[in-house]
Amino acid sequence: MSHYYRKSNLLRPIFYKLVKIPIRKLNLVEYQSKNLLQKHGLTVQKFCLINHRLRFQEFQNFNAKEYVIKAQILAGGRGKGHFDTGFKGGVKITNDKEKAKEYVSSMLGHRLITKQTPKKGVLVNEVMVAESVTIIKETYVCLAMDRQCNGPVLLISPHGGVDVETVASKSPSLLRKIPIDIYEGITDVMANEVSDFLKFPRELKPKVIKELKMLWELFNKVDALQIEINPLAAVKPNDIVCIDAKLNFDDNASFRQKEIFSMPDYGETDPHELEAAKHDFTYVKLDGDIGCLVNGAGLAMATMDIIKLFGGSPANFLDVGGTITETTIKKAFQLLISDPKVKVILVNVFGGIVNCELIANGIISVAKCLRVPLVVRLQGTQAESGRKLLAEAAVEMDITDDFEEAAKKAVSYVEEECDEE
Ligand code: GDP
Ligand code: MG
Repeated sequence: MSHYYRKSNLLRPIFYKLVKIPIRKLNLVEYQSKNLLQKHGLTVQKFCLINHRLRFQEFQNFNAKEYVIKAQILAGGRGKGHFDTGFKGGVKITNDKEKAKEYVSSMLGHRLITKQTPKKGVLVNEVMVAESVTIIKETYVCLAMDRQCNGPVLLISPHGGVDVETVASKSPSLLRKIPIDIYEGITDVMANEVSDFLKFPRELKPKVIKELKMLWELFNKVDALQIEINPLAAVKPNDIVCIDAKLNFDDNASFRQKEIFSMPDYGETDPHELEAAKHDFTYVKLDGDIGCLVNGAGLAMATMDIIKLFGGSPANFLDVGGTITETTIKKAFQLLISDPKVKVILVNVFGGIVNCELIANGIISVAKCLRVPLVVRLQGTQAESGRKLLAEAAVEMDITDDFEEAAKKAVSYVEEECDEE
């Protein structure tokens, strides 16, 4: 369920309006994506990586006629972006190695703001330095799993690069979406047509076809939902290179893509959300002060509505789903309480699959250690015996079977605290 609440749109392909891609969890930055491309035979520039741990270690032995320095964040639009320091450009080119070092230092540890990032930007923890190429032509190529087509599609434009969005909105004829038969894949005929539409020089056609076919192979091998290459460029003297790459994966396939899923994830996901996901909970951080432990998405929404109705504001909600145990309920409480803004915890459980006795025992095992008041509403399977267990436990809390009463009580604790302040 956490998928419904994911805020990040950083990884949408540029033409997201044209494709409906299922939302995914694993996010790879450019250098990780390019490592995969390279491993599967696609052409990328040679590069090295600089971060706080490696520093300039790899860079010492990295020599090129010209260097391209690129901030590694998940969002696109880096070329036209700027840093919170005022420094302009998340992609810089120079032929001077010392200057390249300066550019790296201007990027590392600073926040890069682009059209695709939040306003405050995204912290740059890694910088790639690659061997710069002389670009003759930039095209846009994206392979994506498309809900509307119920399968993979190829999105292409002969005018790729940093202005591709404008090109597409002003000249839609420069954009094409081609559904791919999952059994046939990208055929020679299709690749040939694509190369013509992208207006690659005739002599590069065999190379374009080869790259497109390898792209398709990679797409299948790694269970990708999206591989966006922008630009796929013709470069001097006579080559086709993937200059920038964005890959996303189907997390349902993580069991057979262990290597990929064990790569560091640079997504700016809330650490609480990540921790919650480990236990199959859904945790969503909000702005208020009432921590909510619920079971089920519908009940979560209803709980938040009713809290608002009575003048309160939820700090978060944690949906424990249907697979809770006494041990995981402890973890759930720890998660809720780790938010310093939480002034009261409201447990609202309607036992269906979940057994309220189990919830009650879990609550009893942690309630003594809570630093804030606790309101518990139990209804449904074994609710009565659950409430009885709580009542006999000699731990201070408010117990009820009524939804409204529970919400009012939780809000009243926050109000009391405000009055005292
Ligand atoms: P984005 O702005 O985040 O999409 O980053 P890209 O990696 O796509 O780079 C932005 C633009 O910088 C590209 O469209 C190219 O025009 C340019 N660029 C990137 N790498 C090179 C390079 O090696 N050589 C040259 N000449 N230009 C490059
Ligand atoms: Mg790009």
